[in-house]
Amino acid sequence: MTTVSDRTWTARSSSADRQTDKDEASMISAREALERLREGNHRFVSDVGSREVVTGQTRRSELASGQQPFAIILGCSDSRVPAEIVFDQGLGDLFVIRVAGNIVAPPQIGSVEFAAARFGTRLVVVLGHSRCGAVSATLESLLQPTHSHSRNLLSIIERIRPSVEPLLATELRHDPDALVQHAVRANIRSSATHLRHESDVLRQLIHRDGLLVVGAEYSLETGFVDFFDGVPTAV
Ligand SMILES: [Zn+2]
Repeated sequence: MTTVSDRTWTARSSSADRQTDKDEASMISAREALERLREGNHRFVSDVGSREVVTGQTRRSELASGQQPFAIILGCSDSRVPAEIVFDQGLGDLFVIRVAGNIVAPPQIGSVEFAAARFGTRLVVVLGHSRCGAVSATLESLLQPTHSHSRNLLSIIERIRPSVEPLLATELRHDPDALVQHAVRANIRSSATHLRHESDVLRQLIHRDGLLVVGAEYSLETGFVDFFDGVPTAV
């Protein structure tokens, strides 16, 4: 039996499908999206940002009926790293998922799958940052196992731990600053790798449709975003 709510859902689904077809036809490539982010970050670093950012009523009205974000950003929740600001983008430009430590768990993978499949977005950026508190908390929990965290915070730490724990068996153990620097990058690489390999949907989009997953680190000190993982040469 078809209920009212079923009919509503069906109508919305077909409407969304039409939008998907239109969006995919005009979506820019992963390389173009990466270049757009680099240019935006350059404006931000140069303190000339926001000139091209569109947030006014006209743009809000345009976006009310649909969106076409050109990049998906999985970033840390840190208040100093808001993706739209550090890439100098406006409403509707970025599909952003933020969680402490830019970890990848099923809700984050599902969010990326949704945006990539629904909007045809071809670039995914895992955006970590220097001095990440979630990464530091993970290192502290490994170095001082007696330190107690809530069960909920532990669920984040346990996602970060596998990628940073091996670093404690190296000389980095004796250099706290270098240890955090390497751990931040290891955690970013790990999240990007998870996104590339732990989702059938994303694997298919990578192989068939040119979806690109890259890792990047934002510098709290300079504002510069360094795309250092998974970037094709000559991009
Ligand atoms: Zn962080």
